[in-house]
Amino acid sequence: MAATDLERFSNEEKRNLALGGHVGFDSLPDQLVSKSVTQGFSFNILCVGETGIGKSTLMNTLFNTTFETEEASHYESAVCLRPRTYDLQESNVHLKLTIVDAVGFGDQINKDESYRPIVEYIDTQFENYLQEELKIRRSLFNYHDTRIHVCLYFITPTGHSLKSLDLVTMKKLDSKVNIIPIIAKADTISKSELHKFKIKIMSELVSNGVQIYQFPTDDEAVAEINSVMNANLPFAVVGSTEEVKVGNKLVRARQYPWGVVQVENENHCDFVKLREMLIRVNMEDLREQTHTRHYELYRRCKLEEMGFKDTDPDSQPFSLQETYETKRKEFLGELQRKEEEMRQMFVNKVKETEAELKEKERELHEKFEHLKRIHQEEKRKVEEKRRELEEEMNAFNRRKVAVETLQSQSLQATSQQPLKKDKDKKN
Ligand code: GDP
Repeated sequence: MAATDLERFSNEEKRNLALGGHVGFDSLPDQLVSKSVTQGFSFNILCVGETGIGKSTLMNTLFNTTFETEEASHYESAVCLRPRTYDLQESNVHLKLTIVDAVGFGDQINKDESYRPIVEYIDTQFENYLQEELKIRRSLFNYHDTRIHVCLYFITPTGHSLKSLDLVTMKKLDSKVNIIPIIAKADTISKSELHKFKIKIMSELVSNGVQIYQFPTDDEAVAEINSVMNANLPFAVVGSTEEVKVGNKLVRARQYPWGVVQVENENHCDFVKLREMLIRVNMEDLREQTHTRHYELYRRCKLEEMGFKDTDPDSQPFSLQETYETKRKEFLGELQRKEEEMRQMFVNKVKETEAELKEKERELHEKFEHLKRIHQEEKRKVEEKRRELEEEMNAFNRRKVAVETLQSQSLQATSQQPLKKDKDKKN
């Protein structure tokens, strides 16, 4: 088909036709539901908050089960992310739930870098997904999606204001994940203080430009409840897995000497609101927002970083082949430059080593010459000493011979004298 025909065809108005009878494509939504149910769902929650603020207890309370967790110590040298995945089933729906705990958050003296491991963890999950998408043989159908769908940010119920650690961390995370701030251990703060605290938190978040997740109001079915709940943020929650008898019913609650705080009583805390919003009403929106907003942003930045664009400077569609070629050239150029740099470095190193060796050789030679001179001097001195000693020995020997001659002469002389006397007597 010629290009002009194509244009005319696509510009033609689409006609609405009335069907003569039932065809069956109205079952498409049911088909989708059935397919999704068979496939199962994954939902990943990131819990950020100081150690002991009640993260594990709240997770157990939310899903009405006991997830195996070990108590975190307050002595971690850095924040580390600990994911745990569980398979849950409700009716015929399977949910692969991953709870990621930011262990050691807020426990270090220097908290400047506390947000970094969390950001890195979120990015790694995006990167894994992107790599899967970029594969030639993709298996996104059964890929275990570990991207974080929601970050429950636990705020300490001080009644004052947000800590700078909270603001910095939320600011770093808000473009990467849906943040739902919650005031933990809300039973430790009075009702009037809690009301003021909520207002303070929200105004601080706004003045610091922190974007928290807003429950969607574009779907008529949930618009009303969601806008009411948006006005209730941050939720003040109480967690407990303990069951207490209230009236003739067993309820999850925290029992104190002065009374009982019921987790699921909306007059006591916002736990039910959180559960409704997070699980029953907006779980799919959280998953969708993660994919269409946060992951999309990561993907766009990453692809742009890699040199991909949608259009070239002349607003023409950018060819993938061209991008590949440009990147390949850039890469090869860089490789060549690096190789040359390394070669130069190697040559310089060899030259340096050679010079060092020459210097060492010269030093050794000088040392050798010096020792040789010392040795010759010593030899000359020894030789002189030997000569002197020989002369002394010769002189000594000469004196010895002279003394001996003298001795023998005087002996001779003394032995002849008595003979002469005898002769004289005889005569
Ligand atoms: P995590 O380190 O943040 O996971 O904290 P845990 O869930 O282990 O809770 C630490 C302690 O706080 C435990 O003794 C819990 O019983 C207690 N706790 C948990 N939730 C609440 C709550 O809502 N109110 C009060 N007062 N205590 C809580």
